[in-house]
Amino acid sequence: MNKPLLVFDMDGVLVDVTESYRESIARTVERFTGVRISRESIQDYKNQGGWNDDWELSHHIISQNGVQVPFDQVKDYFQEIFLGNGSDGLILREQWVAKPDVLERLNERFRFALFTGRPKEDAQLTLDRFAGALKFHPIVGMHEVENHKPHPEGLLRIVTDHSGGTAFYVGDTVDDARCARQARVPFIGIAAPSNPRYIDLVFLFQEEGAYAIVDDINYLEEVFTE
Ligand SMILES: [Mg+2]
Repeated sequence: MNKPLLVFDMDGVLVDVTESYRESIARTVERFTGVRISRESIQDYKNQGGWNDDWELSHHIISQNGVQVPFDQVKDYFQEIFLGNGSDGLILREQWVAKPDVLERLNERFRFALFTGRPKEDAQLTLDRFAGALKFHPIVGMHEVENHKPHPEGLLRIVTDHSGGTAFYVGDTVDDARCARQARVPFIGIAAPSNPRYIDLVFLFQEEGAYAIVDDINYLEEVFTE
């Protein structure tokens, strides 16, 4: 029998990106507009849905502040501060969420896959840093799909390859929940109580019919306790 499959989103799920991606959005917006945007405001955009791509979101917020800049200029600046020169990028501030052995124990019962809005190479950098011997297969990133989340293309491909066995999608945004719903894959929502819009997010997950909602992935085992 096929082991059931746990498909993970990366940012906000496997990795805490508060000081990496979210800070990169804030700094990029500030660079072009002079305005420092709050974390609450960034979360409000995420809760609206449709802003899974942080380059597009940064570009959108800059436009909303009345500044017109070509998208590529925004993306280039974002990547410059996010990746840095290899030793000073904000990517280095991201933190692996799982405590020792939590994922290793889950991995005895589940196969793991990754479906992220990141470019696959950026996702791989993070796995190389933190994931040890854990295998995520397949890894579907930004360039492996035509249609991005909340479109279910990437998730459908992963579960179809899993030949119809049981699968779950673990994500932290309403776009992840909508993606799972359209793919008819049970959704496990990650809502951190430290999230500046925690209650809103919990309600959004409930509206999308979440199978379970937990504070972070260290509580996933409890979801699957019989
Ligand atoms: Mg995410």
